Amino acid sequence: MSFVFVLDTDKRPLNPVHPGWARHLLTQGKAAVWRRYPFTIILKQALPEAQTTPLRIKLDPGSKTTGVAVVNDATGAVVWAAEIAHRGQQVHEGLLTRTASRHSRRARHTRYRPARFDNRRRRAGWLPPSLESRLANVQTWVARLRRFCPVSALSQELVKFDTQLLQDAETSGVDYQQGELAGYEVREYLLEKWRRQCAYCGATNTPLQIEHIVPKARGGSNRVSNLTLACALCNTQKGTQTAQEFGHPIVQQQAKTPLKDAAAVNTTRWALYRRLCATNLPVEVGTGGRTKWNRTQRGLPKAHWLDAACVGASTPTLLTITGVTPLRISATGRESRQMCRMDRYGFPRTSAKGQRRVQGFQTGDLVRAVVTSGKHTGTHVGRVAVRARGFFNITTAQGVVSDIPSRYCQRVQQADGYQYERCYEKGAALPPHA
Ligand SMILES: [Zn+2]
Repeated sequence: MSFVFVLDTDKRPLNPVHPGWARHLLTQGKAAVWRRYPFTIILKQALPEAQTTPLRIKLDPGSKTTGVAVVNDATGAVVWAAEIAHRGQQVHEGLLTRTASRHSRRARHTRYRPARFDNRRRRAGWLPPSLESRLANVQTWVARLRRFCPVSALSQELVKFDTQLLQDAETSGVDYQQGELAGYEVREYLLEKWRRQCAYCGATNTPLQIEHIVPKARGGSNRVSNLTLACALCNTQKGTQTAQEFGHPIVQQQAKTPLKDAAAVNTTRWALYRRLCATNLPVEVGTGGRTKWNRTQRGLPKAHWLDAACVGASTPTLLTITGVTPLRISATGRESRQMCRMDRYGFPRTSAKGQRRVQGFQTGDLVRAVVTSGKHTGTHVGRVAVRARGFFNITTAQGVVSDIPSRYCQRVQQADGYQYERCYEKGAALPPHA
């Protein structure tokens, strides 16, 4: 069950409660809705003495999507889960557009301007804006969740495989066993080393099997230096031949070269790790191999939020996920830094930007408009785009409804740089007691 976050009247985070209990508190008038997404209620009394159960935020950072799970280590319950969709690609494209317009401006025949190309310095730890935005998304949500529930620890998937375990895997060797933790680490290592493709035919997007270069039937060992990845077809065709006999002497040579350490290091994840450590909470790190092993052991399907729940050695043996629906969060950014639109020659096309707030509303606010007359009669819930003349556009699940007078609109949640998917589901537009 996705639990409901609870704050006391002094905004102290308390234990999350079952949605049924939250509804009871709301109908009894003992609490009010504090925030719609994630659903949080605020009690009308202070509970400074309240006992809280420590929770753990678990993260599986990805380039497009990051899985988040809030887990109660003592009971094994997944209290809350989400998947954050990043906007790295959008940031990247936005910067390309800016570069292009600046270039075109510089190339124009205008007054003399001294060259300015060598006067910029990057601070230590600089990351490209597209990566920076992903990190900022994760940091934002860790900080927010810490305000909504009692968090005592963090877990993050840091690397793909255990570099310690496989430090000199090729030289000294690790014997792998199917289904054991070390087996999963070996598999992740091989996937990285053989670039996630069949070593013989180069096939991708097909299930890959761990394959012995010198077959076991011919005395080949289980050591990593004797292993590669092959698709089912190549594996069968190769049979009891060695890679050399199968016509792939290069595979045989390559197997002996260990994977360079640098190949396995992901700068963004390490940067995130350092920032999480700065929160002063204990940060546990896990490997991708461990995540996959934990997930397989517990018989869970593949999903970003389930991967997050399975990160690290602290994962409870029994993970309860019944009824948990992850919140789909998409980063949308706030406003735009562009001062006005331009034509295709880079000249200003529109007048300068207007006020960002129009009659108390801001683009990105989640609103509910009850229109009583005219073409758009009915109730519309969605993201608003404000217009200076006071007639707004609302993006609902059914599409965009335009020219809704502001007097019909009521704000449900203030724009916070994110969009929440459940607000677009029909019939479940708002949680009970909205
Ligand atoms: Zn193949």
